[in-house]
This record gives sequence, structure tokens and C-alpha cells, in this order.
Amino acid sequence: MYVSTPVRELNLILFGPPGAGKGTQAARLQDDFRLPYVATGDILRAAKQEGSELGLAAKRYMDAGELVPDELVVDLIIDRIEQEDCQDGFILDGFPRTRPQADALGAAFERLGRRITAVLLIDVPDEEVVSRISGRRVSVKTGRPYHVETDPPKHEGRCDIDGSRLVQRDDDRPEVVKKRLDVYHSETEPLISYYDERGLLRRVDGTRSPTEVHDHIRAVLATLRLEEDL
Ligand code: AMP
Repeated sequence: MYVSTPVRELNLILFGPPGAGKGTQAARLQDDFRLPYVATGDILRAAKQEGSELGLAAKRYMDAGELVPDELVVDLIIDRIEQEDCQDGFILDGFPRTRPQADALGAAFERLGRRITAVLLIDVPDEEVVSRISGRRVSVKTGRPYHVETDPPKHEGRCDIDGSRLVQRDDDRPEVVKKRLDVYHSETEPLISYYDERGLLRRVDGTRSPTEVHDHIRAVLATLRLEEDL
């Protein structure tokens, strides 16, 4: 039987509740591996700001803390990770968030002969999510997240990368955060067992410092690579 040479793609999914630190870890992993960062929320927010057809359709769901319908996001994200710059891997954040999205991603990967390297669950309890999100600020340009107390920028209100303005996201208001957490528990959390059953889930304690979480993720990825070499 023909056995293809294993391809060293690093196809990572960052998983976890809103405010788990996925964006922060993604920035570090991007520095480590030079992989494209595909954040569904950022793509949708950019579409919203441009006022594109997709943005207009997504806006009312996003502002209410609800999920944008699967049919608006599935092709968008799968097309994105099929692009040339994602052929050696990618860091996917905010997708999949529902069972149909996970099935669509699985089917697309099967068709392409690719596979998910790992689904990294950054675990954080709800109380911590609420306190983190209330202090979160993001750059209007780079999307890099900060926290007013635990991870402030060097200059107040300005992004360290390019000095762009920091703002609070519309959906980071407390009443919307509660809704987003409810949606996470009902729609997205079931995917933890979905990926666990497929041997892809790796849990990381997201209550630790960003550096400790990053170190843990690096250790997980190193172990996966060793296992692949055996
Ligand atoms: P995030 O920045 O990942 O917290 O996403 C912000 C908002 O974008 C979410 O609350 C949803 O309204 C929408 N969104 C992001 N990713 C998805 C997805 N995979 N499916 C549906 N809606 C999404």
C-alpha cells in the first residue's frame, strides 16, 4: 500500500470560552511558528466595519452576543485556510463553534488530505472570564488584546505594535458577555468531547499567567511532534 510521507503541517485550533486568552496565545504562537492567524471574530469584525454584505448580515448577531449563522461562516473560514499561506499550517481561533461547523471542517480536511494537529482547549472558569473581559481593550488596527490591569500597553490607550487606538469591543459589555458565555456552554462546549473522542483535544489551564500557558502549549506541541516521529 502507498503510504504518503507525513507532512509537517501545524494546523492548530485554539479553543475555549471568550476571554480565555486565545488571542494572546495566538500572538505568541505566531511569533514562534510564523503561521497565519485566522480569527473568525476578527474577520467578521472587519467585515462589519467595512459595511460589506457579510458584515451587515453578521452585525446583529454579533452585537447581541449570538452566533452568526453557520452558512455565513463555514465557507468563509474553510476558503481562508485553503489559501496558499495556510498550506504549512495555521492558527485557527473562534472556529468551529458549532457541531455543523466542526463537521464541515472535518469533511473539508478529509477532501484535502489534511488533518488537524491539535485542538488546544484553554480552560478558564466563567467568573474569571467576566473579570478578564471587563478589562479587555483591543487595538482598532492590529486586533492585539490588552487588559487594563493585568496586561496594560506601554502607553495608555495605545497599541504597542503600531500606536493605534485601544477600544472596548461592543460585545465586551457585561450583558453581552453573559449571553456569549451561555452560547459557549450550549453550542460550543459540546465540541470538547467531539475532539476528545477523535484524540485531538489537549487541555491547558488558562488561569495561569500568559507565559505559563504559552510554555504549556509549547510542551504539548513538542510532545506531539515527538509522538509523530516515533
Ligand atoms: P470572538 O472574537 O471569537 O469572540 O467572536 C465575536 C463574535 O463573532 C461572536 O460572539 C459571534 O457573534 C461571531 N463569531 C465568531 N466566530 C464565529 C463562528 N465560528 N460561528 C458563528 N459566529 C461566530
